[in-house]
Parts: sequence; C-alpha cells; structure tokens
Amino acid sequence: MKQTDFVEVKQMQVKCVLCDQIEDIDDDALQAKRLRNRKLNMYLCTPCNERIAKNTKKRHKSGNFHLFKEKKDTNDYL
Ligand SMILES: [Zn+2]
Repeated sequence: MKQTDFVEVKQMQVKCVLCDQIEDIDDDALQAKRLRNRKLNMYLCTPCNERIAKNTKKRHKSGNFHLFKEKKDTNDYL
C-alpha cells in the first residue's frame, strides 16, 4: 500500500440539535475532537451557531448590566 492511499481526510457526520441539518466536519477539527471526548454533547450548524452567538451576546449585555448593578450595590454597602 502506498502512503498516499493511506492518507485520506476523514470526516465526521454531525447533526445540528436545532434544525436537524447534517453537516460533515473534518475529523481533525476541534469540534469533532470535543464531540468524541464528550466535552461537547451537541452540535450546532454554522447558521444556528451564529444565531445563538448573537443571542448570547445580547443576553451577556443585559447580564453584565445586572452584574454591574449588583457590584455597585455591594460597593455601596462596604
Ligand atoms: Zn442548525
């Protein structure tokens, strides 16, 4: 067997938990490794990922505001 025959790009099929879309990701990709190590137990396709990231950012904004308020209250208390 030639070495070139042996080397091939492996791909992993993953299903998006939100829209059930099946995507092929590179077997060497960080996401594939995380999924195999159970560090990541769900996969989001790129569009869903972007949507979630946007929503998370929005939530973080309001969350930070809340956190800031709490901090300020504590400082006043001290
Ligand atoms: Zn999706």
